Amino acid sequence: MTPIITDYYDLESFQRMKAFADTRETPFLVVDRSIIARQYDELLGAFPYAKVFYAVKANPAQEVLELLRDRGSSFDIASIYELDRVLGLGVEPHRVSYGNTIKKSRDIRYFYERGVRMFATDSEADLRNIAKAAPGSKVYVRLLTEGTQTADWPLSRKFGCQTDMALDLLVLARDLGLVPWGLSFHVGSQQRDIGAWDAAIAKVKVIFERLAEEDNIRLKMINMGGGFPANYVTRTHDLATYAEEITRFLVEDFGDDLPEIILEPGRSLVGNAGMLVSEVVLISRKSRTSLHRWIYLDVGKFSGLIETMDESIKYPVYSDKQGELEEAILAGPTCDSADILYENYRYPLPLTLAIGDRLYWFSTGAYTTSYSAIEFNGFPPLKSYYI
Ligand SMILES: *Cc1c(COP(=O)(O)O)cnc(C)c1O
Repeated sequence: MTPIITDYYDLESFQRMKAFADTRETPFLVVDRSIIARQYDELLGAFPYAKVFYAVKANPAQEVLELLRDRGSSFDIASIYELDRVLGLGVEPHRVSYGNTIKKSRDIRYFYERGVRMFATDSEADLRNIAKAAPGSKVYVRLLTEGTQTADWPLSRKFGCQTDMALDLLVLARDLGLVPWGLSFHVGSQQRDIGAWDAAIAKVKVIFERLAEEDNIRLKMINMGGGFPANYVTRTHDLATYAEEITRFLVEDFGDDLPEIILEPGRSLVGNAGMLVSEVVLISRKSRTSLHRWIYLDVGKFSGLIETMDESIKYPVYSDKQGELEEAILAGPTCDSADILYENYRYPLPLTLAIGDRLYWFSTGAYTTSYSAIEFNGFPPLKSYYI
């Protein structure tokens, strides 16, 4: 099992996290903040012309928010609760956008009263609510995107509208006294096909031109969402390749006169920084001649590993036991048969693995603690430590 560490991880960071983990009782997540800082710097280095709005839902821990605040990041916020948390850390409201297109009118007002002036929308009803509750604000319209086949965790179908609706909404925004500011899209989280950005940017370009020509509206901003990768079992290109290609798409469509570019990374900033530490609760075979083991752990779908749903995200898993490998089914500890982590995809794990041994889950810094249930079967939410 050893090679997987150097493959997916910074060995030094792994040793630091493991030394910290060794003295603590499982299950928990440990996050190495230096990796988040590195990912942030790498992203800005690759996209020097962009502004970063961290998608808070990926990991809303105070330690993460403070680190990104101090590095100058802005924040993509989806609820009044996330807003309170971020403003409570001293982030100025101009560094916040309300990126959720599904919101109550009174929540729009709550954001407005606290100074937020940038709102996403994708429907007429929501736009009219923004005009009333947040008069004069900047709005950007979220577009539907394709490419859900190549994203490991698609986000598109529920959000966004088609080009014709986007045109109507931006004209209506102006007529309602709002500032038609730009367009956004999200190509799907952990998007492995860089071409998905090409298609989305081409759509954006058409809308920029149509509005300028037909309605004298000059949009100023493109929000390219998240979708940038973390390191899981299914490999992707590296971030530099994403940036090179996406920059080329932008320049092809907009020349040197780029609008303001916003990125909303979640997974790619914090995913690689986390290691979830679990313990083997039970190992069994379902018949005398069965060729695979069921390995039950003290973490599962309800304690942070929800992105194993449909086996979408395949985390690199590491054991420090040695010896012959055999494929296993991995499952969580709760009394719900949905709490099977991987059944089709079989992780090869050492035959020497025993009850009480630990399994380490790499790249679990994003979408784990924030998804963990508060007491299903009485199990507490996933603990986390930030080193
Ligand atoms: C979840 C979300 C993101 C973050 O996406 P990642 O793929 O995790 O980077 C960005 N923008 C919006 C609007 C989101 O909902």
